[in-house]
Amino acid sequence: MRLSKYLVPTLREDPAEAEIVSHRLMLRAGMIRRTAAGIYSYLPLGLRALRKVEGIVRTEMDRAGALEVFLPVLSPAELWRETGRWDVYGKELMRVRDRHDREFCLGPTHEEVITDLVRRDVRSWRQFPVNLYQIQTKFRDEIRPRFGLMRGREFGMKDAYSFDRDEAGAEESYRAMFAAYTRIFERCGLRFKAVEADSGQIGGSFSHEFMVLADTGEDAVVTCTACGYAANLEKAQVAAPGPAAANVALPFTRVATPAKRTVEEVTAFLGLGADRLVKTLLFDAGGEVIAVLVRGDHQVNETKLKNHLGGREVTPATPAQVEKATGAPVGFAGPVGLTGVTIHADRHVEALANFVVGGNQADTHLVDVCHGRDFAVAAWADLKSAEPGDPCPKCGMPLEIVRGIEVGHVFKLGTKYTQAMQATYLDEQGKEQVSIMGCYGIGTGRTVAASIEQNNDADGIVWPLPLAPFPVHLVTLSETDAAVRSEAQRLVADLEARGIEVLWDDREERPGVKFKDADLLGMPLRVVIGGKSLARGVGELRVRRTGEKSEAPLAALAETVARLLATLG
Ligand SMILES: [Zn+2]
Repeated sequence: MRLSKYLVPTLREDPAEAEIVSHRLMLRAGMIRRTAAGIYSYLPLGLRALRKVEGIVRTEMDRAGALEVFLPVLSPAELWRETGRWDVYGKELMRVRDRHDREFCLGPTHEEVITDLVRRDVRSWRQFPVNLYQIQTKFRDEIRPRFGLMRGREFGMKDAYSFDRDEAGAEESYRAMFAAYTRIFERCGLRFKAVEADSGQIGGSFSHEFMVLADTGEDAVVTCTACGYAANLEKAQVAAPGPAAANVALPFTRVATPAKRTVEEVTAFLGLGADRLVKTLLFDAGGEVIAVLVRGDHQVNETKLKNHLGGREVTPATPAQVEKATGAPVGFAGPVGLTGVTIHADRHVEALANFVVGGNQADTHLVDVCHGRDFAVAAWADLKSAEPGDPCPKCGMPLEIVRGIEVGHVFKLGTKYTQAMQATYLDEQGKEQVSIMGCYGIGTGRTVAASIEQNNDADGIVWPLPLAPFPVHLVTLSETDAAVRSEAQRLVADLEARGIEVLWDDREERPGVKFKDADLLGMPLRVVIGGKSLARGVGELRVRRTGEKSEAPLAALAETVARLLATLG
């Protein structure tokens, strides 16, 4: 492809609308343009990268036995009403009416549509397992779309749905998809981690997220380098600390702490470390006010708390609720003498004795309090957010936190949709049974953006070879030199005959401009042919990622390029 005939409108300056690296570089490299808030058009170069991701996804899904379908963008409201999601999905669901006033939505996901398809055409146990996938445009009316392709309102996705006769089959389908996803992201040339995830709104018994690792990632991933444990921060467990400290036989004392409310204020005033204070936080758990105790230097993880409470919704109690439950203003809640409120406590509190708590009275704290002796804990659980250095739940070694971008998600859904929509089949005994579902998503545009977040430098994009729009960026200098042109044409023909795609910068631009654009566009290998190199009978090569330069005789140039690319892939 000749750059002079291609539409690659590169930008010299950073566009003001871009907040993150991938968004900025995709605009600067002329890959995408914003059409409306959260809605983007792909230009030819951007589309090539997207197609590379889609190609890998398609090959691996087919290899795993999934069958490609293509579902409509418009979903009728009736199907969404069958599962109740029409009413609970909220404003992110793009709703439309047709001329007959019938309601539809632009699909953000396709569980209803696919379940409807399967319940009509998969009726016998002999037809299982079924796994159907599509690569489709999805919609989600984000209130604040941002970060370019990362959080758009219209976005490309591969979504797959498995249907099985029983739990064992569903687990096998899940494992097959997990393995396929692992191959997909390996083949994309990305550094990633599969992490245990909270299954959130979609429900289901277990799920994993596939995270592309990048310092700029919006998600925190808790990992253990010793045993490989990985979970997202919402879900990450922490091993219980050592045995409980022995009580020092001191009775607690009441201490005046005038206007000292926060952990910092109280511990500074008392001259103690934050790990000697126990915070008492009140939550509204489905209408009941409960107390949660964590060490002063720890944070309550609301997702873990919610799961500990059997899935009840939890929100921090209002100041009015706090005052009613404790009889004291906010900032002085404590477990001693707290009546009518169930106390849940983090395991790290169990290891403490003689600590400081609020006194349930304005400007008062209690010092040398012990659990068991001074108050009762109804339930001990792992309730704190994991932090670097916390012991791994599997092996006890220190945990680390790295940043990641979620690009894929696998869920074991169970019968949530098949039950609600009566997707049944006849088993071997001719009895009607509900099938068991899994769902599996990959953000295709998001994967392109995430790969740029992971692979870039000050000069531009540094494509991993499998996703590069072109593996080779040929730069010719002195465009008017017929010998240069004919040598370039020969090289392009030779490379294309080997199946290697070439972006040829044949524009009449200064060398500096061409080299800058080559770095910005980030193809893995740059080849330069100019008057001077031609005189020496060589072409010049430069690896984008390492900056490593070499030369090769013109006669062996194509072969050298092919060999170099093989070492990059
Ligand atoms: Zn571990």
